[in-house]
Amino acid sequence: MPDAAYQARHFINGVFVDSADGQKLDRVSPSHGIVVSQAALGSETETQAAIKAARAAFDDGRWSSLAAKERAAVLYRVADLIEQNEERLAVMETLESGKPISQSRGECGGAADLWRYAASLARTAHGDSHNTLGADILGVVVKEPIGVVSIITPWNFPFWILSQKLPFALAAGCTCVVKPSEMTPSTTSMLGEILVEAGLPAGVCNIVLGLGTPVGSLMTTHDDVDMVTFTGSTAVGKMITKSSGETLKKVALELGGKNPQVIFPDADLENAADAVTFGVYFNVGQCCNSSSRIIVHEDIADAFVERVVALSRKVVFGNPMHPDTQVGAIVTEDHKAKIDGYIKDAISAGAEICIGGQVLDVPGLGDQFYQPTVVRGVTPDMAIAREEVFGPVLTVLTFKTFDQAVALANDSTYGLSAGVWSENVHTCLEFCRRAQAGTVWTNTWMDGFPELAFGGMKQSGQGREIGRYGFEEFLEVKSLVMRIGRTRAPWVKTD
Ligand code: NAD
Repeated sequence: MPDAAYQARHFINGVFVDSADGQKLDRVSPSHGIVVSQAALGSETETQAAIKAARAAFDDGRWSSLAAKERAAVLYRVADLIEQNEERLAVMETLESGKPISQSRGECGGAADLWRYAASLARTAHGDSHNTLGADILGVVVKEPIGVVSIITPWNFPFWILSQKLPFALAAGCTCVVKPSEMTPSTTSMLGEILVEAGLPAGVCNIVLGLGTPVGSLMTTHDDVDMVTFTGSTAVGKMITKSSGETLKKVALELGGKNPQVIFPDADLENAADAVTFGVYFNVGQCCNSSSRIIVHEDIADAFVERVVALSRKVVFGNPMHPDTQVGAIVTEDHKAKIDGYIKDAISAGAEICIGGQVLDVPGLGDQFYQPTVVRGVTPDMAIAREEVFGPVLTVLTFKTFDQAVALANDSTYGLSAGVWSENVHTCLEFCRRAQAGTVWTNTWMDGFPELAFGGMKQSGQGREIGRYGFEEFLEVKSLVMRIGRTRAPWVKTD
């Protein structure tokens, strides 16, 4: 444990600063109940200054006009420094979010790969040429950085999600203003130190710490911001779509999910049960990709649920700082109460709790934890089957036919991810084609790669991040129409 609370500061125009009014926000660790960081609490003053710095840095070309090779070199250095700082970042991530230290190490250290991949893309931005438009015309389509990008991130994977956005925006030549969640500000602030060491020019990335209002809302409405990329709840995503509409900014949204895994009787059921257990308890279910509902064939439902319940008993819940812990704390007391509310409502509506369903008291750490929970007897209309619970809670639905399974999987306002388990390639392929989801996994869950675009259909979001598609989101398209001959006939008749 660190000796003292980390002091997280804004990073504006290359300088670390406190808020002009001196305001700070304490973060109490969800697992340990002590103040682990104090973050400057930003106001409009700091937000305006950060946007001004990003605008100036973009307009004078100190970053956007650099050769992509030079931009890539900075991003590669950032990746190396992230790896060198992995432990420091991971400890802070765990203390602020409550997630297990092994997972934080994977996320923070692993994020270096996102930076390296984005660096490799920096040199690939290119457009098209058209040499068939007539004898004297050459058409060229070029890609340009879109401009100043506001990046707003949530608390559940603070450093990872930041790294799904920022290096790709920087690789494209954009300048940025970043706002992390007020609950997990510190690793983003620490990244500021890494950016300085890596040689990123001042003003290219600015970080403002603080609340959705006023900081986030100004970042989505300010005239000098060209694009907003947001990860968070669908409710706030909808607000941002509206608020940014006044200035017609480009908006990319990564929002919630209610992700199904469909299990057919011919699947490798041992593997499927393990992946379902992982999919629902990873990050205590506080995960946009949580497989919070399974749709299992009725012939195997009893045995399959029994298997998942048995595995649930073996998952190590507890102290996030212990290296063997697999599942840590719930992010806030309020959120724990919300999870518990879903369970109580489901029980009143006739659902049956197979395991869990209660707050979990971890000796020496208190009760900001929740038991691994499996709920059966759920009908598709219940809130627990439709809404994002964002806790370690699995709901079970059953099906008889393939068509029923697809209909249940798609019966959601969300469309982030889905999974199918079967040894029959035709079953898997047909499911993949019919699933309304931005990612479909077959016989696995939550494997991700920097190369593969990530994002949601329906109310899970718009736009894509990571991969080539994610990089392209930060590029604007410009067509150059160049007359290269002397054949243009005058429009105005002068004689
Ligand atoms: P949230 O929407 O409450 O907050 C996200 C961020 O938005 C925070 O930084 C917050 O301060 C800021 N914010 C709040 N109000 C704002 C406003 N009016 N204008 C601008 N910014 C504002 O979400 P959360 O509780 O931090 O995160 C959990 C949610 O994020 C879940 O719904 C989860 O599914 C979603 N999520 C999605 C993905 C994905 O990639 N699809 C990944 C992780 C989390």
